[in-house]
Order: sequence, then C-alpha cells, then structure tokens
Amino acid sequence: MYLLYMDESGNPDNPQDRHFVLGGAAIFERQTFFLAQDLEEVQKRHFPGLQPVVFHATDIRAGSGFWRTVPQTTRQAVLQDIGNVIGGANRPGLVLFGAAIEKTDSLYGEAAVERATAEVCRRFDIFLMRRKNESNDPQRGLLVFAEGRFRQRTRVWVKGFRELGTQWGVLVNLCDIPYFASAAETRMLQLADFVSHAVYLLYERRDATLIGPTINRFDQKDSVLHGLVHIARTSSICECPACASRRVPGSLGNWFQATAPQGP
Ligand SMILES: [Zn+2]
Repeated sequence: MYLLYMDESGNPDNPQDRHFVLGGAAIFERQTFFLAQDLEEVQKRHFPGLQPVVFHATDIRAGSGFWRTVPQTTRQAVLQDIGNVIGGANRPGLVLFGAAIEKTDSLYGEAAVERATAEVCRRFDIFLMRRKNESNDPQRGLLVFAEGRFRQRTRVWVKGFRELGTQWGVLVNLCDIPYFASAAETRMLQLADFVSHAVYLLYERRDATLIGPTINRFDQKDSVLHGLVHIARTSSICECPACASRRVPGSLGNWFQATAPQGP
C-alpha cells in the first residue's frame, strides 16, 4: 500500500496569496519507518538530545516558534537536509505530487481546495495504475491529510468523499475514506508540508530553492512531470517545470533554471 500524505500551502481565501497549493508524498508502507529514521537523524545532527522538533517549513524559513533562536545558517542546513532525505529516498518508495492553483474570481476558497485535491488524487491514482500495469505491482492507496486550518472542511471531506471520489473517477485504487492527522504527530506529514511549501515558493515567488533537490521525485514517465500540475489563469505558454516538461519532455523550464541551486 502507498500512503499519500498531503498538506496545503497558501491561503485559499486570502487574495494576497495568488496560489493555493496542495502537495504530497506517496510513501510505500514499509518506507515510512526508514524515512522517519532519516528525519530523526536530521534532528540529532542539529539538535542532539532535544525532544522531537516539528519540521514545519514555513516556521523554519521565517525563524518563528521554536526556530526563533536558531541561527539562519542552521535553519537553511535543516531545510537542505530535509530536501536531501526526500531526494535520496529509495525508488519507488517515495513519489511526490503537487497541484498549484492560480486563483481566479471563480476558482478560490473551497473550489480551489477541491480542484487541487481532485488533481492530486487523480495523479496518485494514475501512478498506482501504472505500478499495476507496467511493473506488475498492484498496490492500493490511502490518503492522509494534515489537519488543516479549517476543521469544518475536514468533516465535509470525509462525509462527501465517496461521492467526490466517484466524480473524479479515482476510487478504483483508493481504499477507505481519507484520514486526518496532526503534522506534529508524524514526520511523514512534515515531509508533505515541505513539499507543499516548496511548490508554493516556486509558483508564488519563483523561488526554486526548496523544490530543487526534490524535483526529480515528482511522479514522471518519459521525462514528463505527471505528478506536478499547474492550473494557470491563462493558457499562455508557461515556463514552470510542470508546463515545460509537458511541452518538451525533460525540460524544467526557465523558472527553475533561474533559481535552482547549483548542486554537484
Ligand atoms: Zn505552468
């Protein structure tokens, strides 16, 4: 079974955020243990002997909460280490998904959340189908959402999920209803938080720093990033990695190249 851990970034109702992002990490059941261990190692490296520190990308970048007294160089190193854990995870034990919705007068709030969820779930379903058809590896999928800012929404999702899932045509490979958990309780949701924030930074600020080490972990086939989708306001040619790789397989577009860290 693959567990798709999902979190959101950008406020769907606040016009100051141009984008709403849902990002997630689909993790093979046995891989969760090893990834959690890798993240504990990151904590031990930087904060030995402390109680578990929650890796929340926004707080780490902004230096808020626990991170207020942590030097910026350490905070940057922690973010880089989390990116490297994702980038270096076993294949296909970890696969990333993300939807960046550019909000419009009609696509915002709950509609943006639903659109993003439908896009991510459909792509997760396609990934599961491909595992079955091309690798003879039939696996079911389970959705785990981070408890969001809107508790009301979580109730609506669970109640209406079967109907929504049927509309989206994704219930074939998914089992049961989605589950909700606190990001403080599982490192896997902290990975999902990292992914959604990384996608948000790319679309909202053209900042590819966080997504850089992880871009190749988004679901792909024939060098097209099927796991990442951009719902743009206009149909003009877009140079984001999602749109660029669909136009020219293997291309990540110039948004990415302009800001991608120069790795080895
Ligand atoms: Zn695009």
